[in-house]
Amino acid sequence: MIVKIGTQWTKAIKRIAPPKKVDLPLLLLLTLTIFGCGDEVSESSRVERPAFDASRAFEDLVTQVDFGSRVPGTEAHQSQLEWMEFQLRKVADTVVLDPFDWVTTESDSLSLTNVIARFGTDFEQRILLLTHWDSRPTADQSTDDAEKQIPVPGANDGASGTAVLLELARMFSEQPPPVGVDLLFTDGEDYGPTTEDMFLGASYYANNRGRIDNPSFAILLDMVADMDPSFPVEAYSLESAPQVVQRVWTVASDLGYGRYFPMGSTSRVLDDHLKLIEVGIPTIDIIDFDYGPANSFWHTLKDVPENTSSRTLLMVGDVVAEVVYRSR
Ligand SMILES: [Zn+2]
Repeated sequence: MIVKIGTQWTKAIKRIAPPKKVDLPLLLLLTLTIFGCGDEVSESSRVERPAFDASRAFEDLVTQVDFGSRVPGTEAHQSQLEWMEFQLRKVADTVVLDPFDWVTTESDSLSLTNVIARFGTDFEQRILLLTHWDSRPTADQSTDDAEKQIPVPGANDGASGTAVLLELARMFSEQPPPVGVDLLFTDGEDYGPTTEDMFLGASYYANNRGRIDNPSFAILLDMVADMDPSFPVEAYSLESAPQVVQRVWTVASDLGYGRYFPMGSTSRVLDDHLKLIEVGIPTIDIIDFDYGPANSFWHTLKDVPENTSSRTLLMVGDVVAEVVYRSR
């Protein structure tokens, strides 16, 4: 994922005013909903569903980092693919490996694979949950020049979203959701170094399966394990799917996570969700783009499990599970 300010690519996040397209009453409603509730977890407001096992999710985060950086073409990438398939086949109704090739602007040939796990295949109404499973080949945001060519460990940027979706898959197996759910693990999100060679799996899915699967909406998870979490509303998400933003941020407030899902500030991030929005799938991005002091851990060798937290995996997993199980 990457953030753009003007014509300059930068690691700093862009704080912007709410997009003009969005009705102020909606924002006001959201603001009142979020700040009108306390931050204590209200167990009574939860639907009946399995608990999100944060320690198991954190173990999955560590397992992925232990494979090594999941850079396309490496042994670690292949090991991770086999491990994800094994985990998902135990719980999903259907698992699809969708391989595709990509030639980069630097003439590298990449063999990439999207992984799709489907639950409740008979349901017409479907929700798509997605995250990327690959990791960045270069620590290009490192302040140390010697480190810039080393792949990132990708604990937060790659492994965290994957860990949350794998745990949700186990929950969906234990108690089938009231709607169809497809989990999409995209490959080649973070290849780069420029955006021409990023978001590759999301783009491939959007232009192939996405049009056929036709989900009602989609939720993207990216960088969801920071120890000091904050998930402001992402601006493209709000423009594309204001009702989904309202649902998700209201659920976060209901579950007592309102302070971590603020409505007062907005980020604008280029990420996998834009590829789905381009083909007409309303998609939101739950992303914490402020990783470490002044975002200094992003795309560096500091993106390690020690700088992540199972508590953050829990709050994101909890919110997404609640949204899914509350669906009709
Ligand atoms: Zn990244």
